[in-house]
Amino acid sequence: MIIDILVLVVSGTIVVILLLLLFFVERSGHLRETGTSSCEEETAGNLGKSTKCPLCGSNLYGNKRVKSVLFPGKPDSMMEINGCPYCYPSNSEISRVCPVCRKIVPADGHVIARVFKKPGKTHVHVLGCTGCYKRKTP
Ligand SMILES: [Zn+2]
Ligand SMILES: [Zn+2]
Repeated sequence: MIIDILVLVVSGTIVVILLLLLFFVERSGHLRETGTSSCEEETAGNLGKSTKCPLCGSNLYGNKRVKSVLFPGKPDSMMEINGCPYCYPSNSEISRVCPVCRKIVPADGHVIARVFKKPGKTHVHVLGCTGCYKRKTP
């Protein structure tokens, strides 16, 4: 009886150790993969991490993000998008172009987008800029 329990405990421990080993091997393998891969592959692997600025079309990597303000609402939230580090604050080199009316967004303007929250992902749909989209205010 005691031997039976011992065998159970030992085999259980072995299974746990094997699982831990597998886990660590997998982790170190992943670390190695991302370490050697190029920047593009890395961002492509991270779903949703790779973004393109909706105003100037610049590819944004790493900590470069589109500056936006989220206004939570129901059923959908609204978002004011100011631009990425390349085009905001507005400069003469990279202009912010509204993806809806194709006009240059004024320096003090922004783009308005609707945010659809779906399980697992968030979809941002640009409605227009301060020039072409008028928010329905009561
Ligand atoms: Zn931009
Ligand atoms: Zn517009």
